[in-house]
Amino acid sequence: MNITTCQFCRKPFASLGGRICPACMEQIDKDFITVREYIYEHKHSNIDRIAKETEVEKQVILHLLKEGRLIIDSPDGDGLLFCESCKKPINTGRLCKECMGNAASAMDKSVSASQAAKQHAAAKAAEPSLKGSAKIGQ
Ligand SMILES: [Zn+2]
Ligand SMILES: [Zn+2]
Repeated sequence: MNITTCQFCRKPFASLGGRICPACMEQIDKDFITVREYIYEHKHSNIDRIAKETEVEKQVILHLLKEGRLIIDSPDGDGLLFCESCKKPINTGRLCKECMGNAASAMDKSVSASQAAKQHAAAKAAEPSLKGSAKIGQ
């Protein structure tokens, strides 16, 4: 077990691998519910307004966005999150849709090249329907 500095409250705590202390985790879970409800009612809000109106810290909202737990439905992602691969602005998670697709197919290849090729051909033939993202309010 390592002593780590919590990335939110900067207090040292005994970590099992995470960078957030148990107290902050609990707070973040509460904040998550608050923000999720706010976004549900204000779909096209931006992070500044959400932080102001919910009184949840911006860094907590960002953290939730990066984890993919929240999605803000603004076209440019407020310029706060960027794809870690191609640096395109994104609304949630760490990778844009294109790079997620690339990562997924790269993973397929490492599992079994021939299987991946077959799947790829099958997917092309079937014209894959857009995978439903868990967007709130759709
Ligand atoms: Zn903490
Ligand atoms: Zn990308």
